[in-house]
Amino acid sequence: MRAAVVTAFDQPVALEDRAVPEPGPGQVLVRLEACGLCHTDIHAMRGDWPVKPGLPFVPGHEGVGIVEKLGDGVTSRSVGERVAMPWLGHACGECRFCVSGRENLCEQQQNTGYSIDGGYAEYLVADAKFASPVPEGISALDAAPLTCAGVTTYAAVKNAHVVPGERVAVWGVGGLGHLAVQYARLVGAEVIGVDITQEKLDLARELGADHVVDASAGDPVAAIAELGGADVAIVLAVAPQVFDQAFTSLNRGGRMVLVSLPAEGTLTVPVFDTVLKGTTQKGRMSRHPHLLHAHDDGYGAPGRDSHAIMSLSMSSWATSP
Ligand SMILES: [Zn+2]
Ligand SMILES: [Zn+2]
Repeated sequence: MRAAVVTAFDQPVALEDRAVPEPGPGQVLVRLEACGLCHTDIHAMRGDWPVKPGLPFVPGHEGVGIVEKLGDGVTSRSVGERVAMPWLGHACGECRFCVSGRENLCEQQQNTGYSIDGGYAEYLVADAKFASPVPEGISALDAAPLTCAGVTTYAAVKNAHVVPGERVAVWGVGGLGHLAVQYARLVGAEVIGVDITQEKLDLARELGADHVVDASAGDPVAAIAELGGADVAIVLAVAPQVFDQAFTSLNRGGRMVLVSLPAEGTLTVPVFDTVLKGTTQKGRMSRHPHLLHAHDDGYGAPGRDSHAIMSLSMSSWATSP
């Protein structure tokens, strides 16, 4: 089989011929149909993060494909089934996080396309427990970006406990933000898309944002205050000033969910305002295996996500130094 392999950091990936892997006990062999490109893949290929992947490795944690073979003991998946292989490729199943449904915090976790080979290959082996079935009616291409970008933003909206009628500001309408806009709209929020480029503000509008704020054209905090302030701020941008701005724009009882991962950055929170306004800040790195439960919950497949996200991901790849 062909596989795109990272053999050295910050070098082009090498297209290699490899033997098709054999699924071990508890694993499945999957023939890939599609795999999205996430910015995390680019960080992995460059070795940007403090915990680096072991070389060589195959990137890709937005893979979708068909189960072709079952390893010993696998009863939960079947041959011919379409599955997605998310970032969380394995967790211990026994620690306090795993037993309370928070496998994404497991310290024994393995990550697809990082610590275990991912989807930029014709085949991969996956832990059957973490290969999530893709519901009927969603194509492999549409499901691929939901495997990471979709589940992350869905979880951010869900984790903020957004209720219908609340005002949600989405800071950064890129590969993740354009999905956050749609999920927030689907839970009945009044959505504000915040960005600094017209193209992304137009996209936010097209995807159902009630308001857009151009943060390059003036003070976004004042613009959001004029709209009545934000009950929830979902931060998907990495510019340092965004964190303060997002916090300041919160209403009483407001929640700020941090999703973006700037290489550096400190959140300075004024204690008086936090106490007086009863605000909450939380980080969310959601890589839950049951990614497509969003759709079981009746959210439906958001509109044009896969195509938009692929083009946005590709453009960020193309413009990376
Ligand atoms: Zn990702
Ligand atoms: Zn665990």
